[in-house]
Amino acid sequence: MTRAARIGIVGAGPGGTALALALTDRGVDPRDVVLYDKARFPRGKLCGGGVTFRGTQLLDRWIGPLEGGLVTDALEFRSALGSLPVKERGPQRVYDRGLLDHALVETCRRRGIEVREECAISAVEPGPGRWRLVHRGGVESHRWTIGADGANGLCRRASGLPGGLTGRLVEAVYEPVSASPRPDTLIFDFDPILDGIPGYAWVFPYVSPDHDGVLYKIGVMDGRGRVPGDVLRRWTDAFAERCGYRRLDARIAGWPERYFDVGVRGARPGLLLVGEALGIDALLGEGIAPALWISEYAAGRLRSALDAGVDRVEGYEQGLLWSEEGRNLWFQARLADRLYGPNPRRWLRVLFGMPHLHALAAGGQDAYGRLVHHVPWLVAGHAWTVLRHGLPSDGPVPGWQPTVAERPSME
Ligand SMILES: Cc1cc2nc3c(=O)[nH]c(=O)nc-3n(C[C@H](O)[C@H](O)[C@H](O)COP(=O)(O)OP(=O)(O)OC[C@H]3O[C@@H](n4cnc5c(N)ncnc54)[C@H](O)[C@@H]3O)c2cc1C
Repeated sequence: MTRAARIGIVGAGPGGTALALALTDRGVDPRDVVLYDKARFPRGKLCGGGVTFRGTQLLDRWIGPLEGGLVTDALEFRSALGSLPVKERGPQRVYDRGLLDHALVETCRRRGIEVREECAISAVEPGPGRWRLVHRGGVESHRWTIGADGANGLCRRASGLPGGLTGRLVEAVYEPVSASPRPDTLIFDFDPILDGIPGYAWVFPYVSPDHDGVLYKIGVMDGRGRVPGDVLRRWTDAFAERCGYRRLDARIAGWPERYFDVGVRGARPGLLLVGEALGIDALLGEGIAPALWISEYAAGRLRSALDAGVDRVEGYEQGLLWSEEGRNLWFQARLADRLYGPNPRRWLRVLFGMPHLHALAAGGQDAYGRLVHHVPWLVAGHAWTVLRHGLPSDGPVPGWQPTVAERPSME
């Protein structure tokens, strides 16, 4: 007789696979874990594929060097107000998500974890003492159900847990025409803010499995989800053209993101949310590294609950908020509140005009998304700059020409 797995994970993206791997790292029997995914891997996923330094160590632990990706050695934050080059204490990686997620799934399989592909969960229902997962082949229930089903996931909706802000992103693949491309740098361009879009645009190098040479993924994030998708698409094409790129994809695709913050909930008896189902970095929308780290945290909490024989993880969200990842996600959300909030140009001027931040960014000792321990120093630096020069203006940037003819609403 086959034994029923104690843990059913809905979604085999980075969040779900990382949880499965982190559980088995902690001694959980791989036969106790089953991953369900509606897709067959390798599957596409709309994503820039960039992983900043904070995510690369966990990927190294689980999948090692992956062929077909790219290594970059810097980030650049830029806008019409200036440039902020960022040197992390190690390199970043850029992956094709089809390859990355497939590698994670195959690593799970090699460890003996069952992965059920093309198995869409159509309903998640509370049952007596357990959640029931409904799919085409029947109904299953596990002692623990894990929602790792991404931004739009069914598990959050079915469990009624409140989520964070939802952003809207669009992206396509481009080739350089008159650009001077920089395949060694991840570019984050905040000019969308000057056009009333609360977010940034990215230019990331991309090696496609179907194309020779380096291409570029260009897209824009609306971190508050309030600008219509067609405006974001026109903005992206106009921005790419201004930067010297031509679109190769027939269309610009779009997908939402969900951000982590205080107030987000991810636990019910017998159920936990991980990855983007719980929430990711609100400033840049970086999701792969947070998904991995949230799962690393969740695996520790779940292992303790299994050992104690209980069906609850008390203080799941608060515990995350006190972890290094959680404190940093909180800080990223505070930065996003400023840059994407009511006085965005003021905070853009702070970002590009603060000498303390430039020194920190150039130092090469830190990592993006790991700055919360610098808060006192950054606040003191900001206060010093304000005392000397006053509060930066929130007024228009002189000479700025809107990227698309009509300006999206700032409201
Ligand atoms: C345009 C865009 C660009 C981005 N760029 C970056 C970037 O450069 N770097 C970065 O770190 N992050 C980026 N992100 C965010 C990143 O893609 C996500 O945060 C990340 O994939 C989250 O991982 P996850 O495992 O939580 O969810 P997902 O990767 O979304 O995985 C969820 C899985 O669940 C499965 N699933 C969903 N519903 C069901 C169901 N009912 N039944 C069975 N299976 C189901 C899906 O098939 C999927 O495989 C970007 C996002 C967008 C939209």
